[in-house]
Amino acid sequence: MTKDEILYYLKTHHEVDMYGIFELADRVRKRYCGDGVHLRGIIEFSNCCVRNCLYCGLRRGNGRARRYRMTVDEVYQVAECAVDAGVKTIVLQSGEDPYYSVSELCRMVERVKELDVAVTLSLGEKSYRDYRSLKEAGADRYLLKFETSDKRLYALLKPDSSYVNRFRCLEYLSELGYQVGSGNMVGLPNQSSESIADDILLFGMLELDMVGIGPFIPHPDTPLGGFNGGSSGLTVKVIALTRILTRNAHIPATTALATVDPEGRRKALCCGANVVMPNVTPFSYAADYEIYPDKLTEDTIDGAKKLVSSVGRYVAKGYGHSLKMGGNVNIPTH
Ligand code: SAM
Ligand code: SF4
Repeated sequence: MTKDEILYYLKTHHEVDMYGIFELADRVRKRYCGDGVHLRGIIEFSNCCVRNCLYCGLRRGNGRARRYRMTVDEVYQVAECAVDAGVKTIVLQSGEDPYYSVSELCRMVERVKELDVAVTLSLGEKSYRDYRSLKEAGADRYLLKFETSDKRLYALLKPDSSYVNRFRCLEYLSELGYQVGSGNMVGLPNQSSESIADDILLFGMLELDMVGIGPFIPHPDTPLGGFNGGSSGLTVKVIALTRILTRNAHIPATTALATVDPEGRRKALCCGANVVMPNVTPFSYAADYEIYPDKLTEDTIDGAKKLVSSVGRYVAKGYGHSLKMGGNVNIPTH
């Protein structure tokens, strides 16, 4: 697909065109990924963060957030319950929290790997050495969204992070043999359709194993609290176009989409998504992992299974590893 074609579909409200794109995305998903939907249980083990991203409720400047950290033993127990309930991947996510040393994070990975599951990490930017230690501890995948391909917008939204370093980290992860996931937010303040089209093209260029696409949702205790959020309609279009472009990347029907639209995950599964990530963080902590307000906290594995069968699909049995045969992450030159 050319950028002009992507732009056309991003901007059109013509129902026949939109239906055509959704239908094509569903056919591409069926052909390249099959009808199995992978369940990934996500454990949000710390909501402490040293960064100050303008959009995120966990930013260090948000004095109203009630902070928590889970121990390795707690993480293990939660993971064990999730595995008993049928998930084959555990995603360990947190703010950028230096309280956990790399050796402690390695211990966390090693413990969870005892449960015979794939482990995805989503811990933000780290050094090559740290990523290598975590890989050696058994981590299989890493999720690091580039959030927006627009360099200027990135600098505004992530004032203490560097665009170049974000992509360097993606390159490190790829070099180290991780299955690499990235993604964006849709509907950010001052985000143009052109820059969303660039995001989609970049997903293809990076040859990502996984792409996470969610609407931006304003959090009242952040500097972006007064802005509008991204719509479900536009997010679903971005998912569909990404499926058509990337063919076999794993694409989740995200929690953020379910937060802005109760039917959002179902729509995403019918327009290209092939993954659901039920949140298995204990309720007492999950309520405080408030990246954005009204986030789904009672998000059960059984609920995810029902969602999958409601769209005529089935829960995939395996680990749900990458469907790509290899490939490297390339640093964009524009
Ligand atoms: N700290 C790590 C990082 O930033 O990569 C991982 C945790 S971070 C909370 C996970 C994701 O939450 C980010 O990649 C971002 O896309 C998403 N996020 C944060 N604030 C958001 C908001 N207000 N609306 C939608 N998504 C948001
Ligand atoms: Fe921290 Fe990640 Fe939130 Fe940024 S998006 S403030 S790095 S948790």
